Amino acid sequence: MSNNTYDVIIIGGGIMGSSTAYNLMKADNTLKVVVIEKDETYAKASTTLSMVNSRIQYSLKENVQISQYAAKILDEFEDEMEVNGVKPNIVYRREGNLVILDEKAEPAARQAYEMQKELGCAIEWWSPEKIKEAYPLYNMDGVVAGTFGPEDGHFDAYAVLMGYKAKAKVLGVEYMENEVVDLITANGAITGVKLASGEALSSSTIVNCAGAWAKDLCAKAGISIPVEPTKRQCFAVDPAIKPATALPLTFIPSGLYFRTETGGLILLGKSMDEDPVGYDFNWDQKRFLENLWLELAEFVPAFESLKLIRGWAGLYAVNTKDANSILGEWPDLKGFYLANGFSGHGLQQGPAVGRYMTELITGATPTLDLSIFGPERIIANKPIRESGIF
Ligand SMILES: Cc1cc2nc3c(=O)[nH]c(=O)nc-3n(C[C@H](O)[C@H](O)[C@H](O)COP(=O)(O)OP(=O)(O)OC[C@H]3O[C@@H](n4cnc5c(N)ncnc54)[C@H](O)[C@@H]3O)c2cc1C
Repeated sequence: MSNNTYDVIIIGGGIMGSSTAYNLMKADNTLKVVVIEKDETYAKASTTLSMVNSRIQYSLKENVQISQYAAKILDEFEDEMEVNGVKPNIVYRREGNLVILDEKAEPAARQAYEMQKELGCAIEWWSPEKIKEAYPLYNMDGVVAGTFGPEDGHFDAYAVLMGYKAKAKVLGVEYMENEVVDLITANGAITGVKLASGEALSSSTIVNCAGAWAKDLCAKAGISIPVEPTKRQCFAVDPAIKPATALPLTFIPSGLYFRTETGGLILLGKSMDEDPVGYDFNWDQKRFLENLWLELAEFVPAFESLKLIRGWAGLYAVNTKDANSILGEWPDLKGFYLANGFSGHGLQQGPAVGRYMTELITGATPTLDLSIFGPERIIANKPIRESGIF
């Protein structure tokens, strides 16, 4: 094999690219794998700009199973990713997820709750009284119930990313800081990539892990995918009255979500219809001051007095067809695999997607069948949606 020829080329070294690289080497450490990442500071990668929540509260069975697997991997992660005696510290805090339900949201949530229970998830149906008892600062007006996942939580995304990357490198993966500017194809198959530096690399297996840039990359091979880079904003605030205990990631019916962060801070965010498509990373304090603060203070009146500390903006790779991932080989371009369109819930999907992509590439039987997320449904226009508030 020549120097510029690889068994697998992975484009994008975020959580998807790095988990896939690690899983490939774990499956077969003779593989020659390169991850091409255009910015090794990860300043604009969604992985490092995420809220980093993992939850089992989905209505599609496969999304629940993906998160069940994430919880297992995160529990074992620090030991598994030890390199030369150094273990990553991923600060995995299982402080729970609480979904607040109004009358409209209750029926779909009840169905999802039953399914999650059947799958063996830790999930509890709470009355408004129970919610108030656990979190006395919350206002129960209009609330009919809540679903609480006590084992859900959040972690340090950068630490997990660096953990995967360090281990993948020790197992033999090459990381290259460069930008893929073109895809090379011949006779309905992918054959390589062109880099911004002018080099060309060859491989018959190439994985698109380019996150919010995935659609641009596909376009280089004449492939159109419904994945739009969409700005999402988050804020960190310091409330005058601090809750007595950590608050779980709490989703309220308006779509606002918040949780406690270290140092007495509260993190919050909300996806909004007017969020622009494009590569815009500017955050806007007006959005918090004129909009989200009111919603937050209505549900938590104690948060009427607070200080806005900072905000940030990152990109969701929104699959505009059905807000779910697109996983698998593109039917019309042999060897070109997609791990795209995670629509705001990809971080927790990193472990399962890395394993699944590996199984598809190596021809192993998938441990968890994720074929419902295959690109065929996009071509056939058969969306698969989550129900409920997400
Ligand atoms: C504000 C916000 C909150 C979120 N909250 C959560 C949450 O609570 N829970 C959750 O599970 N998920 C959440 N997400 C979503 C999650 O962060 C993403 O789904 C996940 O990180 C996607 O990982 P990725 O590897 O596909 O993309 P990325 O992390 O963006 O990595 C893609 C990489 O590809 C590189 N790249 C792109 N094009 C090229 C090219 N041509 N050549 C070389 N390199 C290239 C980029 O530089 C980038 O580093 C959130 C996202 C945001 C923005």
